Amino acid sequence: MRAAVFVKDAEPLLIENVTPAEPGPRDVVVELGASGICHTDLTVQSGRMSHLLAGPSILGHEGAGTVIEVGNEVSYVKVGDRVISAVRPACGRCDNCLRGKTHLCTALWPMLRKRRGARPDGGDYYAMSGLGTFSQVMTVDEASVVPVKTDLPFEQLALIGCGLTTGAGSVLFTADVEAGSSVVIVGCGGVGQAAIQAAVVAGATPIIAVDPMASKREVALNLGATHAIDPGAGDIGEQVREITGGRGADYAFDVVGGPNVVAQTYKTIGAGGMLVLVGYGAPDDELKFPAFDFQSQEKCVKGCVAGSARIRRDFQRFVDLIETGRIDTASMVSRTISLDQVNQALDDLHTGDAIRSVITSF
Ligand SMILES: [Zn+2]
Ligand SMILES: [Zn+2]
Repeated sequence: MRAAVFVKDAEPLLIENVTPAEPGPRDVVVELGASGICHTDLTVQSGRMSHLLAGPSILGHEGAGTVIEVGNEVSYVKVGDRVISAVRPACGRCDNCLRGKTHLCTALWPMLRKRRGARPDGGDYYAMSGLGTFSQVMTVDEASVVPVKTDLPFEQLALIGCGLTTGAGSVLFTADVEAGSSVVIVGCGGVGQAAIQAAVVAGATPIIAVDPMASKREVALNLGATHAIDPGAGDIGEQVREITGGRGADYAFDVVGGPNVVAQTYKTIGAGGMLVLVGYGAPDDELKFPAFDFQSQEKCVKGCVAGSARIRRDFQRFVDLIETGRIDTASMVSRTISLDQVNQALDDLHTGDAIRSVITSF
């Protein structure tokens, strides 16, 4: 089957015909209908996170498709189910799952080191996040897929696998934003646009979108942001204070990551405010906050992975929110492409004009 394989840091993915290993008793084989291309794929391909991979790996971690085969111990899904893959599994048995924090499931780590088959030269390949959605078919652990009841197209369902859940979950679950609170979203790609829409669902106001690109600010306003500001037009802390009557925001979501942007985003929160770190920093990045302001204004900084979502509860919830028009995923799909265009789509992430490119032909 055809797949896009990461072999070397900062080199294009290779489109290869690979031979998948026989599925194990707890494995589910999924024929992919769509795979989103997320910024984290670019981060791995460029070499900044490739230390997480065991060797050559099929990239892609945001997919949806149809179950075509299951191992004999699988009970959660059956052949014919429409499923969404999860960037973080939920095994239901590890300490974090038992504490209700399934987004921190420790079953992820052995998945990253699990051989998934052979490349054309006979060498082993693995799969990003235990998934590898840049392929015609993926073999994954039962813990990594969630069946959903819906007729929505796969290119919209795929976004629930990472971007939508990360952004919307950061607002609804990580921060648990209450109605009437003020919210700032810094970075308006797919994750940021999902966060903006979830802020509308939560009843937040104002909802202030921050992005240097005018086209993304416009999409943000169409999706429910009440204000959109350009970080190039002056300090974003000052701009947010102007909009919030001098107070600063109750919640700020940094969807970009890295010390410089986080320091700017911190300045947008007011007394008692919470800064949620959604974007990735590099492993050796260090964040700094002014000690007196942080303590005396009782501010809070919180990490966020995979939107703190409980996938088996929340994936169907997001489907329901989309089907009832509360969240618009159609407008988040900027373009649909074929697997052969994956390297171009990764390059396009540098220029940043697309909200989401989604592979729909493999
Ligand atoms: Zn992602
Ligand atoms: Zn677990």
